[in-house]
Amino acid sequence: MMRKINVTCSSMPEYEEYIEEIKELWDSRWLTNMGVKHRQLELELKKYLGVPNITLFSNGHLALECIIDAFDLQEEVITTPFTFASTTHAIVRNGLKPVFCDINPDDYTIDVSKIEELITEETSAIIPVHVYGNICNVIEIERIAKKYNLKVIYDAAHTFGVTVNGEGVGNFGDASMFSFHATKVFNTIEGGAVTFKDAGLKTKLDAFKNFGITGPESVEYIGTNAKMNEFQAAMGICNLRHVDEEIEKRRKLVERYISNLKGIQGIKLTKPQENVKSNYAYFPVLFDGYRKTRDEVFEELKEHNIYSRKYFYPLTNSFDCYKEKFDPGNTPVARYVAERVLTLPLYADLDLEYVDRICAIIIR
Ligand SMILES: *Cc1c(COP(=O)(O)O)cnc(C)c1O
Repeated sequence: MMRKINVTCSSMPEYEEYIEEIKELWDSRWLTNMGVKHRQLELELKKYLGVPNITLFSNGHLALECIIDAFDLQEEVITTPFTFASTTHAIVRNGLKPVFCDINPDDYTIDVSKIEELITEETSAIIPVHVYGNICNVIEIERIAKKYNLKVIYDAAHTFGVTVNGEGVGNFGDASMFSFHATKVFNTIEGGAVTFKDAGLKTKLDAFKNFGITGPESVEYIGTNAKMNEFQAAMGICNLRHVDEEIEKRRKLVERYISNLKGIQGIKLTKPQENVKSNYAYFPVLFDGYRKTRDEVFEELKEHNIYSRKYFYPLTNSFDCYKEKFDPGNTPVARYVAERVLTLPLYADLDLEYVDRICAIIIR
């Protein structure tokens, strides 16, 4: 029996490195509310992501809720159901109606040829999702958004550090949400950020995460509490020092997976996107006409103590909590993919030899 292999394993700095980073917090006793660590990480991330504006949050989900709120959107928002619960929930929790668009079968991001037919008088925004480290067709989305005067907010939870022709992915659309959850390529334990185009939003977003407070005696917005604390920021400062190294390790693992699984009848791998530098966040495999179904492969790996993930499954437009509330739309490609996709274990410290063993079990 192999030792237990989870689908992911959180990146952590050396224990001593983190202890060194948090030492001064015992002197300052400044634990949260935008202290020195928060300010430092914000600056470092702005540089790393190559974006003009950024605000940190306690997690990615609240970051997304806040940016949707800050744009004061009305009525309908076009999005995809092939995502984590967070994307659709953030729309619904803002009192907006999710209008579900299908995905394309090549990289599983929004099918841009199907957006325009979903636009109505009520549409105020598009919230597409960059999936697994692949990015949406940002050029076409921008064209559509301009034509119909729509806001674009990307769920970029999967694309930390991804660049297109050298440009940080956070520069597309009006804003992007990044997640720094423990399971993501870069983590602050829990955490997230919004990057955005309009510098004028900074004051508003900063206030939103702190109850809408704008001064000692003024509260201008109905904000929430979504501040990143100093211990989270310190973790981020440490992890950021090693993230390039980690992405490089992920790249090697992905190459090994590809060399083991390519060309096998019924196993479909996603093609790398042109001009995109990926972060190798996930390794999705589509079992499409393979001898075994996705669920059979999932179970068989589990018997060997290897935990893959049906991700994303189920689709958000089939969630119980949305039944009879929202039209699930027409998303056959998303359904097809959700029923066949499996993401295999992938994290920087996974041994290449384990990749071979995982593939051997799948192929056998
Ligand atoms: C992780 C994730 C989120 C939510 O981020 P949290 O930091 O966990 O709140 C949102 N969308 C997608 C696609 C994600 O993978």
